[in-house]
Amino acid sequence: MNYSVRGNRKVEYQCPRCTSPVESPLERAGEQVACPTCGAAMMVPGARELEQLTIEVRLREAKKLEAERAEEASRAERARASRASEVGRAKAAAAKEAEARKLQPRAEAAPRARGSVSRVTFGGTLFLALSAFYLVAVLPLQTRLSQTQAKLNALTNTMNANAEALESLTETVNHNARIANLNNRVR
Ligand SMILES: [Zn+2]
Repeated sequence: MNYSVRGNRKVEYQCPRCTSPVESPLERAGEQVACPTCGAAMMVPGARELEQLTIEVRLREAKKLEAERAEEASRAERARASRASEVGRAKAAAAKEAEARKLQPRAEAAPRARGSVSRVTFGGTLFLALSAFYLVAVLPLQTRLSQTQAKLNALTNTMNANAEALESLTETVNHNARIANLNNRVR
């Protein structure tokens, strides 16, 4: 049977009995129809083209579906990458903060170090001042104190010597008195 397919939608053919031209939608290829002129039953041709068209349509649908899945996968990948970069940024920020926290005590330690240096300087100044005070005031006082102590010792020795002399003198006086008393009794 001679037939032709137009635009993948229509199939044009002839009635095998009355040879009048007939056209049907390609989707009806393979179906039994009646000739609109003579009423003869005949099969719509173009089953092969319909099958080809169906395969092409399914292939297009499959490709479209594949493209949609690829797009979905790409979206998911972009979302994952975005989350990963967010996580990366968060980690970087956390690491930076941790580093800053690690540096902070050092930053605090620096003024303390300067403070201790100034305390050392203050201590040194105080030591020099105390040394100067010791040399100017305390040492002469100590010297005078030692001299006074020595004088006091000498004085104490003199006093002790005087006391001994006084005691000896008193004994002599008492002795003389006893002798005088005895002389008076003898007379
Ligand atoms: Zn016919």
